[in-house]
Amino acid sequence: MKKREVVTIKMDSVSENEEFARVAVAVFLSRMDPTLEEIEDVKTAVSEANAVIHGYQGGEGTITLEVSVEEDVLTVLVQDEGVGIRDVAKAMEPMYTTAPDGERSGMGFSFMEAFMDQVEVVSAPGSGTTVTMRKKIGR
Ligand code: ATP
Ligand code: MG
Repeated sequence: MKKREVVTIKMDSVSENEEFARVAVAVFLSRMDPTLEEIEDVKTAVSEANAVIHGYQGGEGTITLEVSVEEDVLTVLVQDEGVGIRDVAKAMEPMYTTAPDGERSGMGFSFMEAFMDQVEVVSAPGSGTTVTMRKKIGR
């Protein structure tokens, strides 16, 4: 059995790092011999991870990105230690957003679920949010 491989990156919660996160995950994924569609799916899901926009409500903080592979499954973990979510089930409903007047549509979690096989959210008010997404790569 192949050993689990993992890369962990810590970054400031600034929008400039969103592209960095996307590309870092894509580069990691490339070792798994993915299809172009799989690369696009994973990049889209990472783009929807809300840590920068919601985690610290625009304030300063650190985001941890952990990418790992075990056998043919990619796991992407995005963690902030920010405001947290009171009702995770509600936050994950399609079209639910706490920022409805802006350009947000409340579809972030729905997209993550559509493009990945599994999305798990652990969160509590005041102690931050961890989103773990998994996807089997290759046929
Ligand atoms: P969109 O993703 O379509 O731009 P959105 O970000 O509001 O809109 P979701 O990504 O589905 O929609 O998230 C739903 C809600 O969950 C957010 O409005 C926010 O209140 C809350 N939320 C999501 N991620 C976090 C997080 N890391 N920290 C705190 N709150 C979060
Ligand atoms: Mg979102």
